[in-house]
Amino acid sequence: MCFFCILLPNLGYAKQLQIEALRFWSAPDHTRLVLDTTSLPKHQVFALQNPDRLVVDIVNAKLGRHLLQPAANHNLLYRIRSGARNKGDLRIVIDLKKQINPKSFVLKPSNLYGHRLVIDLFDKDKVKKSPVIKPMANSDNKNRAKEMVVAIDAGHGGEDPGAQGPHGVQEKKVVLSVAKKLVAKINAHPGMRAILVRKGDYYVGLRKRLKIARQSRADLFISIHADAFHNAKVHGASVYTLSRGGASSEAARWLANQENASDLVGGVSLDDKDDVLASVLLDLSQTATQDMSTIAAKKILGELNGIVKLHKRSVQAAKFIVLKSPDIPSVLIETAYISNPTEERRLRSPGYQNKIAQAIYRGINKYYQDVTPVHLAIDERTAIRAFSKHKITRGETLSEIAVRYGISMKKLKRFNALKSNVIKIGQVLTIPSS
Ligand SMILES: [Zn+2]
Repeated sequence: MCFFCILLPNLGYAKQLQIEALRFWSAPDHTRLVLDTTSLPKHQVFALQNPDRLVVDIVNAKLGRHLLQPAANHNLLYRIRSGARNKGDLRIVIDLKKQINPKSFVLKPSNLYGHRLVIDLFDKDKVKKSPVIKPMANSDNKNRAKEMVVAIDAGHGGEDPGAQGPHGVQEKKVVLSVAKKLVAKINAHPGMRAILVRKGDYYVGLRKRLKIARQSRADLFISIHADAFHNAKVHGASVYTLSRGGASSEAARWLANQENASDLVGGVSLDDKDDVLASVLLDLSQTATQDMSTIAAKKILGELNGIVKLHKRSVQAAKFIVLKSPDIPSVLIETAYISNPTEERRLRSPGYQNKIAQAIYRGINKYYQDVTPVHLAIDERTAIRAFSKHKITRGETLSEIAVRYGISMKKLKRFNALKSNVIKIGQVLTIPSS
Protein backbone atom coordinates (compact mmCIF):
# COMPACT_ATOMS: atom_id res chain seq x y z
CA MET A 1 0.00 0.00 0.00
CA CYS A 2 1.22 3.47 -0.88
CA PHE A 3 1.56 5.34 2.38
CA PHE A 4 2.13 8.72 0.71
CA CYS A 5 -0.94 8.35 -1.48
CA ILE A 6 -3.09 8.55 1.61
CA LEU A 7 -1.29 11.56 3.07
CA LEU A 8 -0.88 13.54 -0.13
CA PRO A 9 -4.39 14.94 -0.44
CA ASN A 10 -3.96 16.63 2.97
CA LEU A 11 -0.58 18.03 2.06
CA GLY A 12 -1.63 19.29 -1.37
CA TYR A 13 -1.20 23.01 -0.63
CA ALA A 14 -1.20 24.98 2.57
CA LYS A 15 -4.39 26.91 3.11
CA GLN A 16 -4.11 30.59 2.29
CA LEU A 17 -3.77 32.84 5.28
CA GLN A 18 -6.43 35.52 5.59
CA ILE A 19 -6.06 39.05 6.88
CA GLU A 20 -9.14 39.62 8.99
CA ALA A 21 -8.58 43.16 10.22
CA LEU A 22 -6.13 45.99 10.63
CA ARG A 23 -6.07 48.09 13.78
CA PHE A 24 -3.84 51.04 14.58
CA TRP A 25 -2.91 52.92 17.73
CA SER A 26 -1.01 56.18 18.13
CA ALA A 27 1.52 56.48 20.95
CA PRO A 28 3.63 59.59 21.55
CA ASP A 29 6.71 58.18 19.80
CA HIS A 30 5.29 55.61 17.41
CA THR A 31 2.23 54.26 15.64
CA ARG A 32 1.34 50.60 16.05
CA LEU A 33 -0.37 48.60 13.30
CA VAL A 34 -1.87 45.24 14.14
CA LEU A 35 -3.00 42.80 11.47
CA ASP A 36 -5.24 39.93 12.53
CA THR A 37 -4.27 36.82 10.59
CA THR A 38 -5.78 33.35 10.50
CA SER A 39 -2.38 31.68 10.99
CA LEU A 40 1.24 32.54 11.73
CA PRO A 41 2.26 34.98 8.98
CA LYS A 42 5.44 34.59 6.93
CA HIS A 43 6.17 38.19 6.20
CA GLN A 44 8.55 40.94 5.25
CA VAL A 45 8.21 44.60 6.16
CA PHE A 46 10.14 47.51 4.69
CA ALA A 47 9.87 51.26 4.20
CA LEU A 48 10.21 53.13 0.90
CA GLN A 49 10.66 56.84 0.20
CA ASN A 50 9.38 59.30 -2.42
CA PRO A 51 6.62 59.07 -1.54
CA ASP A 52 6.97 57.64 2.00
CA ARG A 53 5.28 54.29 2.34
CA LEU A 54 5.42 51.01 4.19
CA VAL A 55 5.30 47.71 2.35
CA VAL A 56 4.09 44.54 4.05
CA ASP A 57 4.54 41.34 2.03
CA ILE A 58 2.81 38.24 3.34
CA VAL A 59 3.39 34.82 1.81
CA ASN A 60 0.37 32.80 0.66
CA ALA A 61 -2.22 35.25 1.91
CA LYS A 62 -5.30 37.19 0.94
CA LEU A 63 -7.58 39.82 2.41
CA GLY A 64 -10.53 38.39 4.33
CA ARG A 65 -12.30 41.74 4.28
CA HIS A 66 -11.68 45.37 3.44
CA LEU A 67 -9.20 47.02 5.72
CA LEU A 68 -10.16 49.99 7.83
CA GLN A 69 -8.82 53.24 6.36
CA PRO A 70 -7.26 55.87 8.65
CA ALA A 71 -9.09 59.13 9.29
CA ALA A 72 -8.10 61.96 6.95
CA ASN A 73 -6.47 63.86 9.82
CA HIS A 74 -4.36 60.91 11.03
CA ASN A 75 -0.91 62.22 11.90
CA LEU A 76 0.98 59.48 10.04
CA LEU A 77 -1.20 57.17 7.99
CA TYR A 78 -2.53 58.39 4.71
CA ARG A 79 -4.06 55.44 2.89
CA ILE A 80 -3.98 51.64 2.94
CA ARG A 81 -4.08 49.59 -0.29
CA SER A 82 -3.34 46.02 -1.23
CA GLY A 83 -2.80 43.72 -4.17
CA ALA A 84 -2.02 40.09 -5.01
CA ARG A 85 1.47 39.15 -6.17
CA ASN A 86 3.56 36.04 -6.97
CA LYS A 87 0.52 33.81 -7.43
CA GLY A 88 -1.06 33.81 -4.00
CA ASP A 89 1.03 36.25 -1.97
CA LEU A 90 -0.34 39.52 -0.66
CA ARG A 91 1.22 42.97 -0.61
CA ILE A 92 -0.21 45.68 1.60
CA VAL A 93 1.06 49.19 0.99
CA ILE A 94 0.47 51.91 3.54
CA ASP A 95 1.01 55.44 2.25
CA LEU A 96 2.53 57.63 4.93
CA LYS A 97 2.75 61.32 5.70
CA LYS A 98 6.38 61.15 6.87
CA GLN A 99 9.44 58.89 7.08
CA ILE A 100 9.43 56.08 9.61
CA ASN A 101 11.51 53.18 10.89
CA PRO A 102 9.44 50.01 10.94
CA LYS A 103 9.86 47.17 13.42
CA SER A 104 7.69 44.07 13.28
CA PHE A 105 6.97 41.00 15.37
CA VAL A 106 4.23 38.38 15.59
CA LEU A 107 1.97 37.62 18.52
CA LYS A 108 0.52 34.21 19.28
CA PRO A 109 -3.20 33.88 19.92
CA SER A 110 -4.42 35.17 23.28
CA ASN A 111 -7.88 34.81 24.81
CA LEU A 112 -9.22 37.79 22.84
CA TYR A 113 -7.28 37.65 19.60
CA GLY A 114 -5.86 35.11 17.18
CA HIS A 115 -2.50 35.33 15.38
CA ARG A 116 -1.30 38.88 14.91
CA LEU A 117 1.37 40.68 12.98
CA VAL A 118 2.43 43.82 14.84
CA ILE A 119 4.29 46.62 13.07
CA ASP A 120 5.57 49.59 15.03
CA LEU A 121 6.35 52.69 13.00
CA PHE A 122 8.85 54.91 14.80
CA ASP A 123 9.28 58.53 13.77
CA LYS A 124 12.57 58.86 11.95
CA ASP A 125 13.24 62.41 13.09
CA LYS A 126 12.86 61.50 16.74
CA VAL A 127 16.31 60.28 17.80
CA LYS A 128 16.13 57.51 20.34
CA LYS A 129 17.17 58.97 23.66
CA SER A 130 19.46 56.77 25.68
CA PRO A 131 17.68 55.59 28.81
CA VAL A 132 20.12 57.02 31.31
CA ILE A 133 19.31 57.67 34.91
CA LYS A 134 19.77 61.37 35.33
CA PRO A 135 21.33 62.62 38.51
CA MET A 136 18.98 64.55 40.76
CA ALA A 137 19.06 68.28 40.33
CA ASN A 138 20.76 69.15 43.58
CA SER A 139 20.60 72.37 45.50
CA ASP A 140 19.71 74.52 42.48
CA ASN A 141 16.02 74.18 43.13
CA LYS A 142 15.01 73.74 46.73
CA ASN A 143 11.27 73.83 46.09
CA ARG A 144 11.59 71.08 43.54
CA ALA A 145 13.10 68.76 46.13
CA LYS A 146 10.10 69.10 48.41
CA GLU A 147 7.49 68.46 45.76
CA MET A 148 6.27 64.88 45.65
CA VAL A 149 5.90 63.57 42.12
CA VAL A 150 3.43 60.72 41.67
CA ALA A 151 3.45 58.63 38.50
CA ILE A 152 -0.04 57.31 37.77
CA ASP A 153 -0.02 54.24 35.58
CA ALA A 154 -3.24 53.12 33.92
CA GLY A 155 -2.78 49.43 33.10
CA HIS A 156 -2.80 47.95 29.58
CA GLY A 157 -3.87 50.08 26.57
CA GLY A 158 -4.02 49.89 22.80
CA GLU A 159 -3.74 46.34 21.54
CA ASP A 160 -3.91 45.06 25.12
CA PRO A 161 -7.44 45.65 26.47
CA GLY A 162 -6.67 43.98 29.82
CA ALA A 163 -9.54 42.18 31.49
CA GLN A 164 -12.99 42.37 29.97
CA GLY A 165 -16.33 42.40 31.75
CA PRO A 166 -19.33 40.22 30.80
CA HIS A 167 -20.89 43.23 29.03
CA GLY A 168 -17.73 44.17 27.20
CA VAL A 169 -16.38 46.89 29.47
CA GLN A 170 -12.62 46.95 28.98
CA GLU A 171 -10.14 47.36 31.79
CA LYS A 172 -7.85 49.64 29.75
CA LYS A 173 -10.64 52.21 29.35
CA VAL A 174 -11.96 52.37 32.90
CA VAL A 175 -8.53 52.44 34.50
CA LEU A 176 -7.46 55.34 32.27
CA SER A 177 -10.56 57.28 33.36
CA VAL A 178 -9.80 56.62 37.03
CA ALA A 179 -6.13 57.55 36.46
CA LYS A 180 -7.04 60.88 34.84
CA LYS A 181 -9.38 61.75 37.70
CA LEU A 182 -6.66 60.88 40.19
CA VAL A 183 -4.09 63.04 38.39
CA ALA A 184 -6.44 66.04 38.49
CA LYS A 185 -6.96 65.63 42.24
CA ILE A 186 -3.25 65.33 42.98
CA ASN A 187 -2.40 68.32 40.81
CA ALA A 188 -4.89 70.44 42.72
CA HIS A 189 -2.88 69.77 45.89
CA PRO A 190 0.06 72.11 46.53
CA GLY A 191 3.32 70.22 46.99
CA MET A 192 2.22 67.24 44.95
CA ARG A 193 2.40 66.75 41.21
CA ALA A 194 1.10 63.83 39.17
CA ILE A 195 2.04 62.58 35.73
CA LEU A 196 0.19 60.05 33.60
CA VAL A 197 2.37 57.19 32.40
CA ARG A 198 -0.04 56.34 29.59
CA LYS A 199 -1.98 59.31 28.27
CA GLY A 200 -4.23 57.63 25.74
CA ASP A 201 -5.30 54.35 24.19
CA TYR A 202 -1.93 52.88 23.26
CA TYR A 203 0.23 50.18 24.80
CA VAL A 204 3.28 50.97 26.91
CA GLY A 205 5.68 48.12 27.73
CA LEU A 206 5.88 47.27 31.42
CA ARG A 207 9.58 48.17 31.70
CA LYS A 208 8.95 51.33 29.75
CA ARG A 209 6.39 52.34 32.38
CA LEU A 210 9.10 52.17 35.01
CA LYS A 211 11.37 54.23 32.81
CA ILE A 212 8.75 56.92 32.28
CA ALA A 213 8.27 57.13 36.05
CA ARG A 214 12.02 57.39 36.56
CA GLN A 215 12.43 60.06 33.90
CA SER A 216 9.69 62.07 35.59
CA ARG A 217 11.63 61.69 38.85
CA ALA A 218 8.62 60.08 40.46
CA ASP A 219 8.61 59.65 44.23
CA LEU A 220 5.70 57.26 44.12
CA PHE A 221 4.32 54.95 41.43
CA ILE A 222 0.65 53.96 41.42
CA SER A 223 -0.58 51.38 38.93
CA ILE A 224 -4.33 51.11 38.43
CA HIS A 225 -6.04 47.93 37.22
CA ALA A 226 -9.36 46.12 37.33
CA ASP A 227 -9.25 42.45 38.11
CA ALA A 228 -10.93 39.48 36.45
CA PHE A 229 -11.60 35.99 37.69
CA HIS A 230 -13.38 33.00 36.22
CA ASN A 231 -15.86 33.11 39.07
CA ALA A 232 -18.16 36.09 38.36
CA LYS A 233 -19.22 36.32 42.03
CA VAL A 234 -15.76 37.35 43.19
CA HIS A 235 -15.66 41.10 43.86
CA GLY A 236 -13.87 43.91 45.66
CA ALA A 237 -10.67 45.91 45.52
CA SER A 238 -7.16 44.75 46.43
CA VAL A 239 -3.90 46.62 46.96
CA TYR A 240 -0.52 45.11 46.11
CA THR A 241 3.14 45.71 46.65
CA LEU A 242 6.02 43.77 45.14
CA SER A 243 6.84 40.46 46.74
CA ARG A 244 10.49 39.51 46.95
CA GLY A 245 10.07 35.79 46.95
CA GLY A 246 6.94 33.94 46.02
CA ALA A 247 3.66 35.72 45.86
CA SER A 248 1.71 35.79 49.10
CA SER A 249 -1.06 33.62 47.74
CA GLU A 250 -1.77 31.37 44.81
CA ALA A 251 -4.36 33.85 43.54
CA ALA A 252 -1.78 36.61 43.69
CA ARG A 253 0.63 34.52 41.64
CA TRP A 254 -2.06 33.77 39.09
CA LEU A 255 -2.94 37.43 38.83
CA ALA A 256 0.70 38.45 38.47
CA ASN A 257 1.01 36.03 35.56
CA GLN A 258 -2.02 37.57 33.89
CA GLU A 259 -0.81 41.13 34.32
CA ASN A 260 2.78 40.38 33.37
CA ALA A 261 1.64 38.51 30.27
CA SER A 262 0.68 41.93 28.92
CA ASP A 263 4.31 42.48 28.14
CA LEU A 264 4.10 40.08 25.20
CA VAL A 265 2.27 42.91 23.50
CA GLY A 266 5.37 44.99 24.05
CA GLY A 267 7.31 42.87 21.57
CA VAL A 268 11.08 42.62 21.77
CA SER A 269 12.74 44.58 24.52
CA LEU A 270 15.48 46.92 23.37
CA ASP A 271 16.53 47.79 26.84
CA ASP A 272 18.15 44.70 28.28
CA LYS A 273 20.89 46.85 29.74
CA ASP A 274 18.37 48.63 31.85
CA ASP A 275 17.18 45.35 33.21
CA VAL A 276 20.69 44.42 34.25
CA LEU A 277 21.10 47.75 35.94
CA ALA A 278 17.75 47.35 37.58
CA SER A 279 18.62 43.94 38.93
CA VAL A 280 21.87 45.21 40.40
CA LEU A 281 20.21 48.18 42.00
CA LEU A 282 17.26 46.17 43.13
CA ASP A 283 19.08 44.60 46.04
CA LEU A 284 20.49 47.86 47.27
CA SER A 285 17.60 50.09 48.11
CA GLN A 286 14.91 47.52 47.92
CA THR A 287 14.36 47.28 51.63
CA ALA A 288 13.81 51.01 52.02
CA THR A 289 11.63 51.17 48.93
CA GLN A 290 9.66 48.16 50.03
CA ASP A 291 8.97 49.69 53.44
CA MET A 292 7.76 52.91 51.82
CA SER A 293 5.63 50.95 49.35
CA THR A 294 3.96 49.14 52.21
CA ILE A 295 3.24 52.40 54.04
CA ALA A 296 1.66 53.87 50.89
CA ALA A 297 -0.29 50.68 50.18
CA LYS A 298 -1.71 50.58 53.72
CA LYS A 299 -2.80 54.22 53.55
CA ILE A 300 -4.55 53.64 50.22
CA LEU A 301 -6.18 50.42 51.38
CA GLY A 302 -7.39 52.22 54.52
CA GLU A 303 -9.04 54.91 52.42
CA LEU A 304 -10.60 52.45 49.97
CA ASN A 305 -12.11 50.58 52.92
CA GLY A 306 -15.66 51.79 53.39
CA ILE A 307 -15.74 53.58 50.04
CA VAL A 308 -15.63 50.39 48.00
CA LYS A 309 -15.88 46.73 48.96
CA LEU A 310 -12.52 45.14 49.66
CA HIS A 311 -11.51 41.80 48.24
CA LYS A 312 -8.63 41.49 50.70
CA ARG A 313 -8.38 43.41 53.97
CA SER A 314 -4.59 43.39 54.03
CA VAL A 315 -1.95 44.52 51.54
CA GLN A 316 -1.13 41.69 49.14
CA ALA A 317 2.24 40.90 47.63
CA ALA A 318 2.91 39.63 44.12
CA LYS A 319 5.60 39.74 41.50
CA PHE A 320 4.26 42.43 39.22
CA ILE A 321 6.86 43.73 36.80
CA VAL A 322 5.52 47.29 37.05
CA LEU A 323 6.26 47.31 40.77
CA LYS A 324 9.94 46.55 40.26
CA SER A 325 11.44 50.03 40.39
CA PRO A 326 14.24 49.59 42.92
CA ASP A 327 14.08 53.17 44.13
CA ILE A 328 10.49 54.31 43.67
CA PRO A 329 7.91 53.08 46.18
CA SER A 330 5.25 51.37 44.07
CA VAL A 331 1.71 50.19 44.64
CA LEU A 332 -0.70 48.37 42.34
CA ILE A 333 -4.43 48.71 42.90
CA GLU A 334 -6.95 46.29 41.51
CA THR A 335 -9.91 48.63 41.81
CA ALA A 336 -12.63 45.98 41.41
CA TYR A 337 -13.49 42.76 39.61
CA ILE A 338 -14.59 43.72 36.13
CA SER A 339 -15.70 40.09 35.72
CA ASN A 340 -18.41 40.72 38.31
CA PRO A 341 -21.45 42.20 36.48
CA THR A 342 -22.30 44.63 39.31
CA GLU A 343 -18.75 45.92 39.57
CA GLU A 344 -18.46 46.09 35.81
CA ARG A 345 -21.45 48.43 35.74
CA ARG A 346 -20.08 50.56 38.58
CA LEU A 347 -16.65 50.81 36.99
CA ARG A 348 -18.20 52.36 33.93
CA SER A 349 -19.90 55.13 35.92
CA PRO A 350 -17.94 58.39 36.22
CA GLY A 351 -19.33 58.85 39.73
CA TYR A 352 -17.90 55.54 40.89
CA GLN A 353 -14.61 56.16 39.10
CA ASN A 354 -14.44 59.46 40.99
CA LYS A 355 -15.05 57.69 44.31
CA ILE A 356 -12.18 55.32 43.66
CA ALA A 357 -9.90 58.15 42.55
CA GLN A 358 -10.84 60.17 45.65
CA ALA A 359 -10.02 57.28 47.98
CA ILE A 360 -6.66 56.63 46.30
CA TYR A 361 -5.92 60.35 46.41
CA ARG A 362 -6.63 60.50 50.12
CA GLY A 363 -4.33 57.54 50.71
CA ILE A 364 -1.54 59.22 48.75
CA ASN A 365 -2.09 62.45 50.65
CA LYS A 366 -1.77 60.65 54.00
CA TYR A 367 1.41 59.00 52.77
CA TYR A 368 2.71 62.42 51.72
CA GLN A 369 1.97 63.88 55.16
CA ASP A 370 3.64 60.98 56.94
CA VAL A 371 6.66 60.30 54.86
CA THR A 372 7.92 63.61 53.57
CA PRO A 373 9.35 64.96 56.85
CA VAL A 374 11.23 61.75 57.48
CA HIS A 375 13.25 61.73 54.25
CA LEU A 376 14.87 58.58 55.42
CA ALA A 377 14.51 56.45 52.37
CA ILE A 378 14.51 59.48 50.09
CA ASP A 379 18.19 59.96 50.91
CA GLU A 380 18.95 56.45 49.86
CA ARG A 381 17.10 57.07 46.61
CA THR A 382 18.95 60.28 45.93
CA ALA A 383 22.19 58.43 46.44
CA ILE A 384 21.26 55.87 43.86
CA ARG A 385 20.13 58.41 41.34
CA ALA A 386 23.09 60.69 41.64
CA PHE A 387 25.65 58.19 40.49
CA SER A 388 28.36 58.54 37.91
CA LYS A 389 30.62 56.13 36.06
CA HIS A 390 34.33 55.58 36.53
CA LYS A 391 36.48 53.64 34.08
CA ILE A 392 39.48 51.94 35.68
CA THR A 393 42.87 52.99 34.29
CA ARG A 394 46.29 51.41 34.88
CA GLY A 395 47.55 51.51 38.46
CA GLU A 396 44.27 52.42 40.15
CA THR A 397 43.06 50.58 43.21
CA LEU A 398 39.61 50.26 44.65
CA SER A 399 40.57 52.04 47.86
CA GLU A 400 41.98 55.01 45.92
CA ILE A 401 38.79 55.31 43.94
CA ALA A 402 36.71 55.16 47.11
CA VAL A 403 38.79 57.95 48.66
CA ARG A 404 38.63 60.05 45.52
CA TYR A 405 34.84 59.95 45.44
CA GLY A 406 34.52 60.25 49.20
CA ILE A 407 32.68 57.02 49.76
CA SER A 408 33.46 53.90 51.73
CA MET A 409 34.99 50.80 50.16
CA LYS A 410 32.03 48.87 51.44
CA LYS A 411 29.53 51.08 49.65
CA LEU A 412 31.54 51.07 46.44
CA LYS A 413 31.74 47.27 46.45
CA ARG A 414 28.08 46.92 47.33
CA PHE A 415 27.06 49.19 44.48
CA ASN A 416 29.06 47.21 41.98
CA ALA A 417 28.32 43.80 43.41
CA LEU A 418 32.08 43.20 43.83
CA LYS A 419 33.03 40.20 45.94
CA SER A 420 36.73 41.04 46.16
CA ASN A 421 38.99 44.08 45.80
CA VAL A 422 40.28 42.94 42.41
CA ILE A 423 39.50 45.35 39.55
CA LYS A 424 40.56 45.29 35.89
CA ILE A 425 41.74 48.02 33.56
CA GLY A 426 38.80 49.20 31.47
CA GLN A 427 36.24 48.01 33.97
CA VAL A 428 33.46 50.55 34.56
CA LEU A 429 32.32 51.17 38.11
CA THR A 430 29.15 52.84 39.22
CA ILE A 431 29.92 55.57 41.74
CA PRO A 432 27.11 56.58 44.06
CA SER A 433 27.13 60.11 45.42
CA SER A 434 28.79 60.43 48.80
ZN1 LIG B 1 -4.72 44.65 34.60
